[in-house]
This record gives sequence, structure tokens and C-alpha cells, in this order.
Amino acid sequence: MFFSSAEALAASAKHAPLTFRWTSIAGFLLDDGETTLAFDVTFTRPTPLNWLGLQELVSDFPAIDENVNALGLKKVDAIFVSHEHVDHAVDAAALGERFGATIYGGPSLKRIVDASRSRFTWPDLKYRSVADRETVTVGKFKIKFYRRTHAPIFPKIGFHFLAGEVPSDFHFGFYQYYDGDVWCWIIEHPAGRILVDQGSHFFEGLRSDLHGGETMFLGVANKASVEDFVTKYVAGFHPRLILPLHFDFFFAPPNREHTRFLPGIEYDRLVSESAKVSPETRWRLPKFGEPIPVQ
Ligand SMILES: [Zn+2]
Repeated sequence: MFFSSAEALAASAKHAPLTFRWTSIAGFLLDDGETTLAFDVTFTRPTPLNWLGLQELVSDFPAIDENVNALGLKKVDAIFVSHEHVDHAVDAAALGERFGATIYGGPSLKRIVDASRSRFTWPDLKYRSVADRETVTVGKFKIKFYRRTHAPIFPKIGFHFLAGEVPSDFHFGFYQYYDGDVWCWIIEHPAGRILVDQGSHFFEGLRSDLHGGETMFLGVANKASVEDFVTKYVAGFHPRLILPLHFDFFFAPPNREHTRFLPGIEYDRLVSESAKVSPETRWRLPKFGEPIPVQ
């Protein structure tokens, strides 16, 4: 008895459990029991006045409180943002302040963080600038940054939404949240290897660093097509598990019981086409806050 529990303890120390929790839109938390990473976590929803450009966009603090409580979130160590569009970046600074977490990113995100530091008087907000292909270590996680580009939001007509840097005079204008520094990541952890890519169009610069068989957390909005997505990510690398991101209709208030998809997601076709080229790849559609083991 003593030996078996000691062995179990040793095994769990060697392979800490890794848990994913989706937080709506493109956001998720990754936790190994010691360290919690937040990627693209945002709870603030733009209002019609924002879209009309008539109101600045700052964090909705009551919405953050409500979501943080619903998630039972007590600790975040590090914050990562795939690009600076509002639905990915708006709450990075507020969450960094709330949890004392370090925010990692490039010059565009830094402008938003610096503006937040002075506007809300958050002198302790922690920011660390990273470069392309840099790896940062947080707890047992090694997170490698790859600079990529944002896909057009209407791929068929090649329409890009706010492509460019966040301006140096950033003052929370809704249309100042340019895509900025666009990243995807490969995360190494003793429990497994994960690709995080919100890009929906495969980034060739990743190819030589993917071994195949990774877990993938993938944005599924703005795809060129289901076939393109499946050919590049699924047939290309036979991931063991895909957790889709950015599938829910975020123009309305969140509905945690019932998933309402953005137009063009085609989730069922993604799963069925993927099964044809890689039967070993599992897909799982996350629900808000649901812990999903990823190792
Ligand atoms: Zn987005």
C-alpha cells in the first residue's frame, strides 16, 4: 500500500496533470497544478457604441469579476495574447493587475499595457518583451513564440481587419486595437507538447518544429476552408487531440449553456473530414470553464 501510493506520487510528480479550461471566445487557461497560464482571456464584450466608434473600449470590471468567480480562478502566473484585436487583448492588463501575473508580448501589446498602467494607476503591472523564436520558461512550461500574420477575417475577399501596429498614442479607442504583434506558440511541458495557433491558416514557419502527434489548441474562425484547415493541421501532423477556440458567437452576451457558433465554423464537418485523414485525432468542443485533461 505504502509503495503503491509512493509510486503514484512519484509518477504524478514526473508527469504533472495538465488541464485546459476554455474561458469563451479564443481564451483559455492551462494549469499543471503549480502554474496557471492564461492565453487570450477576455471577458469584456464590445457594445454597439464601441463598434460605432462612439465609445472607448476599456475592461468591463464587473464582467471580469463575474467570470473570474464563475471559474473559481484564484491564481494566474503568466498572460499571453495572440494579437491585439479587442477580443484577444482588451483584458490582458486588468488580469495582469488582478493576479500579479507577468504579461508577455511585443511592442503593440506593451502600448496597451503601458496605457493601462497610467490610466488606472497600476504601477506594479509586469510586462516582459519577447522576440520572435524566443522561449520563455514559466514553472515547468517552456513557451516558444513564433511571429506570424493574422488571416483575413473574410478570407474569400481577402479583407483584413485593423492590420498594423497599435499606435504609440494608444488611448483605448476601439479602432486602435490593431492586430499588432501576432503570435502562435509551441508549449513544451513534461506532460506533453502543445501547439497553440489562433491563426486558422497554417503558418509554414512552424513546420520544422512540429514533430507530429502534438495536442493542438486551434482557432477555427476565418478559415480559408474546412479542407485547407484539415489538410494543413490534421493530415499534416496527426494531432492526438484538437481543442477548437474562437468558435462562439461573441457579438452577443455569453450563453454558457448553449453554444451558438459564429457563421462559417462548420464544426461537424471539421470533425468528420478530420476523421477521414487522421482517425486517431480526437476533437473536443469545450464548454465554459470545463476542465479538460490534455496529456
Ligand atoms: Zn478574434
